[in-house]
Amino acid sequence: MFAYDESRHCIFNRKGVCQLNEWVGEDFPCLLIKSDIETTNIIWLNPFAYDYLGLKKPVEAKIANIVSKASLIFYESYIKPIILANGKYLEVQITLISEGGRRVPAVANLTLSDNIVYWAIYVAKERDKLYQELLEARDLLEKKTEELTAVSRKDSLTPLLNRRAAKDDINVLITQSSRAFFPLSFLLLDIDFFKDINDTFGHDEGDKVLVALSNLLLKQVRETDVVARWGGEEFLIVLYNANIESIKSFSDRLHNAIETIVLPNGNPLTVSIGGAVLEQDELKESDVIAAQLLKADKALYSAKDNQRAHTRIFDKEKGFIRL
Ligand code: GH3
Ligand code: MG
Ligand code: MG
Repeated sequence: MFAYDESRHCIFNRKGVCQLNEWVGEDFPCLLIKSDIETTNIIWLNPFAYDYLGLKKPVEAKIANIVSKASLIFYESYIKPIILANGKYLEVQITLISEGGRRVPAVANLTLSDNIVYWAIYVAKERDKLYQELLEARDLLEKKTEELTAVSRKDSLTPLLNRRAAKDDINVLITQSSRAFFPLSFLLLDIDFFKDINDTFGHDEGDKVLVALSNLLLKQVRETDVVARWGGEEFLIVLYNANIESIKSFSDRLHNAIETIVLPNGNPLTVSIGGAVLEQDELKESDVIAAQLLKADKALYSAKDNQRAHTRIFDKEKGFIRL
């Protein structure tokens, strides 16, 4: 029930005479409301609030009629106990239901006196807009950072990882393997007679071969493996949880697949591969990757020296093993 206690409010006219006025707070661009703490009945509100909320006179509204359901629950369960205990609650975020049922973000300061809750409510549309813009800017920044990170990890010509990104990913695998050991196989792959391909068909054709081979490598490995362009016409593959037997079946499949890449003169592309399997005691090395690459590189040279187009593994005891 709309009630107004005339005896408690006055405004002054130009002559300085106090005039009682029902519309106290008329000029304030904020909502001023008084409600009963027990019944939540609205017992007074200023004209701005009256207009903003689109209420009809006489006002027979409760707090439930002017705030969202969630705000009402928050008021009953959280705000009310606090104002009963402390006499006030400042800067609480609520959602108003304004004229025409529009939901409007708002900030309220509440004080309690004589069982009456005094609400000073500021519409926070602009603040909310700014907050939304900030969230959007943050999301955009995160997206851009992700894109930049992805770009900085990629090789400039092929869809493969570059050397630095590969090292990062391999180090993650090495850390995992140090916690609970599993073997990692390092394979260095080098295109056979690539200089001739460039010289015969041109550099652009050479680039196309590099891209075709890269796409093929991506198709042949599993998601847990690392495949990177290590440099020029040399690639590194690290097979996850793989021993010599796994390398054998993988490289047989790989050599066959690579031969399906046919050069302009009809000859199949071939590669040589040098491999090394990481043993548990080698996890102690100061640079595990460099140590494995040294072994794989020796095996690769051995393959190059022996007709190319096959895989060789470095073995501590047996020397190089042709697979
Ligand atoms: P081998 O069988 O012994 O490996 O002989 P190869 O000719 O493949 O090896 P070599 O090291 O003699 O030549 C490698 C060539 O790869 C030389 C270099 O110009 C070329 N190359 C390196 N990077 C690129 C590239 O990005 N694009 C192209 N088209 N060629 C490249
Ligand atoms: Mg080379
Ligand atoms: Mg080569």
